[in-house]
Amino acid sequence: MTATHSTRMLILGSGPAGLSAAIYGARAGLAPIVVQGIQPGGQLTTTTDVENYPGFRDVIQGPWLMEEMQAQAEHVGTRMMYDMIVSVDLSQRPFRLVGDSGTIYSADTLVVATGAQARWLGLESETRLRGQGVSACATCDGFFFRGKKVAVIGGGNTAVEEALYLTNHSHDVTLIHRRDSLRAEKILQERLLAHPNIKILWNKAVDSFVGGEGTQGLIALDLRDTRTGEVSRIPVDGGFVAIGHEPATELFRGHLDLDADGYINVRPGTTYTNVAGVFACGDVMDKHYRQAVTAAGTGCMAALDAERFLAEADFESTSEGHRTAARAVATV
Ligand code: NDP
Repeated sequence: MTATHSTRMLILGSGPAGLSAAIYGARAGLAPIVVQGIQPGGQLTTTTDVENYPGFRDVIQGPWLMEEMQAQAEHVGTRMMYDMIVSVDLSQRPFRLVGDSGTIYSADTLVVATGAQARWLGLESETRLRGQGVSACATCDGFFFRGKKVAVIGGGNTAVEEALYLTNHSHDVTLIHRRDSLRAEKILQERLLAHPNIKILWNKAVDSFVGGEGTQGLIALDLRDTRTGEVSRIPVDGGFVAIGHEPATELFRGHLDLDADGYINVRPGTTYTNVAGVFACGDVMDKHYRQAVTAAGTGCMAALDAERFLAEADFESTSEGHRTAARAVATV
């Protein structure tokens, strides 16, 4: 028999955004259900050292942090479901969602925290050396390359921002781009081109990430000239892939307002989407910051927005009930 779960607050996604929304929602008495999705714990479960999440003096591990967040969410009354939503109906409240398992979820409010994934080049050497010199987040991992040679691959805003950020740690930053012009905003380009510690290699694509002996990690990049096909090698200690992100919003296409890059549009300064009762938080609506702590922050906002929304909706329906009762009395 198909199970149906009804909840005041359904949260999709179990990264820092979803779990923070759950902690706040549970503490507000909304008994939230979190549907964990394809990658329980989100992107932090694929990283190792985390040094920038406030509250921990020592380096902590991403997977451990997510286990703690989940335990805290459950402790205050969140129910975790190992399921993945495959269809949504947001045309009326309660919203109706169906999981991969066949389970039906009926929700008074929905918090979308499905996150985003960094795009990778798709090279075998990239996968092998991920976490050993190869990263997709300079803000997260740049610190580990203090005084070392680093390279950023890409030509958009993210790549340029990451290259500029890395100059805080390294005097030897190389931006590698497959064409001869950048996609990034002009002001960022100007900053990049003017920076004495950044050099740019135009018309180059990464053929391979080269690892050293034993556990040495990344030591070089093999680059192919995209015009001539010529291959050359540059020594680097860190390689940051910054070729874009993919927000997990396919399910919501046609249901929620998305921007040109597929991120969920929210009302500025809030987590309200274009559908009343649906809120979005974390990387699925944020292409600028993409940090665990900012995702947690917007997760908290989503729970507070949902709680207020429910309070107003409850007040409206109670008032309507009173008005109907008063009209009935008046007509007797
Ligand atoms: P973009 O899609 O804008 O840029 C991706 C870059 O990676 C492009 O230069 C692209 O090259 C290159 N690239 C893509 N695939 C490959 C590949 N297989 N091999 C080599 N290079 C590749 O992604 P961003 O993450 O930079 O930005 C995404 C969105 O977020 C944009 O709208 C951006 O404006 C926004 N953003 C805004 C920020 C801000 O305002 N401060 C900060 C960060 C992001 P090519 O140019 O040849 O296509």
